[in-house]
Amino acid sequence: MAFDCIVRNGEVIDGSGKTPRYQADVGFTGGLVSAIGDLSKAESAQQIDATDRIVCPGFIDVHVHSENTLLGGRDQMASLHQGVTTHLLAPDGFGWAGIPDKEARELWHYTQFAYGEPVEKISWPTIESYLSLFPGRSPANVYPQVPHCAVRVNAMGWAPRPATPDELKVMEDGTRAWMEAGAGCLCLGLDYQPSANASFEELVALCKVAAEYDGIYAAHLRYQILGREGAWDEIIELQKAADIPVHVSHERVDELSGAALSRSEEENVDITFESYLYPAGMTHITMQLPMWVQMGSPDEVLDRMRLPDTKERSLAFLKERGGIADYQIIGYTPSGNYAGMRLGEAARGVGKSNEEFAYDLVLEENGIQAFVVLWPPNEEENVRTLNRTAQHPKMMLASDGIYDAQHPHPRGFGCFAQFLGRFVRERKLLSLEEAIYKMSGFPAERYRLPERGRLAEGKPADVVVFDPDTVSDRSTFETPLETADGVSWVIVNGEPVIAEGTPTANRPGQVLSRGR
Ligand SMILES: [Zn+2]
Repeated sequence: MAFDCIVRNGEVIDGSGKTPRYQADVGFTGGLVSAIGDLSKAESAQQIDATDRIVCPGFIDVHVHSENTLLGGRDQMASLHQGVTTHLLAPDGFGWAGIPDKEARELWHYTQFAYGEPVEKISWPTIESYLSLFPGRSPANVYPQVPHCAVRVNAMGWAPRPATPDELKVMEDGTRAWMEAGAGCLCLGLDYQPSANASFEELVALCKVAAEYDGIYAAHLRYQILGREGAWDEIIELQKAADIPVHVSHERVDELSGAALSRSEEENVDITFESYLYPAGMTHITMQLPMWVQMGSPDEVLDRMRLPDTKERSLAFLKERGGIADYQIIGYTPSGNYAGMRLGEAARGVGKSNEEFAYDLVLEENGIQAFVVLWPPNEEENVRTLNRTAQHPKMMLASDGIYDAQHPHPRGFGCFAQFLGRFVRERKLLSLEEAIYKMSGFPAERYRLPERGRLAEGKPADVVVFDPDTVSDRSTFETPLETADGVSWVIVNGEPVIAEGTPTANRPGQVLSRGR
């Protein structure tokens, strides 16, 4: 039998988390893994020498703001350099497809902080018109989720109130349309507009639609309104009320969430979570303002923020909450102004307090800005929290990467490589088999992708070849745009997108569908 390609002499880790690594050759034909074993006598058009390297399934990133850059943005290959071969769409429920252009443009305005300038004209009136952008242009596979933001704006605009029965019906239909288009998950960002206004009953109703299709529910929890404890309670109650598997976006295991996870275990709550394992987040600073300031469409929020009374009350609110720390990093502004600077330095430069500077920046930048929000500098405790997070059995890895920003969070360029280098090799917190499961087999099982996340005969050839002794991240909070090291080959549907560490021109990404 002749193969298109054989990866020779590597150590195979299959992504199941159960099988110990073993030495084998891996052959591909027609985009599928066609043989694993001793292929020393077999012929192939291409050979890859994987001596002293790990050969494993491509990684799946279940929470990543990459869909714009995958279509041709500056950072199109940043995740591929780390071996990520499948990206979920609509993290935090963000989306712009399947709705009229005006609403889509408003939603882009609101979410641009996490995507940068659009590489395409914002006009995707049908789900299909959006999903059809990716084949032939994306180096990685994409997999849709139901974007709750778009589904809700389509039904009731940005109205900051519970839905009426008629509006809820439109949302159920919108959810169904995405599930019919292959989505595996209903996704929400409950700290963001307009999803923050969804009632518990709305969540239950939409979850029931997703559950009919064997989908799951994932959310950035409602921390701002309910507090962390209340937010965890809400998702646990939702799992019980809607009888759907639930997943918590970008969390960490500290005392509070550790206790919530233990309680879930005792009460048989079907829950998982993901983490990127850095002591910092990244989002727009608007999220720190009082909730009444954040409500409504982007233009409504800007109009409200221009009122002197809103400013005064907002600054008082921020100060009362302890203010915004000097060391926060300005990550993205459409103008480029201040990007990469520490907040304190930028504010002092124009003679303002940190809070006033941040507030004014929102207005100057038309509402679009993002900050890298570092945890308070208590290194020992932060490392302890991240280590405990990495080892938790319900945890999978996901980057929450933000791309095409001037100075983004380093997670977008380094999350997966950091996990393998720092948490596995240096700190020895998990075996390589366990770590790879958390990046491939586990997300595939949880998100209903039975054909992905495993290196096995007959499965699509999404394959990574890396050096376990050198794999590491190079992106830092100071230099976030450095690509990862140690990943030599990345193959998507049988075609190399990274070859000997260098990007190729191949764009073999496909749109994946639930259950396949
Ligand atoms: Zn989020």
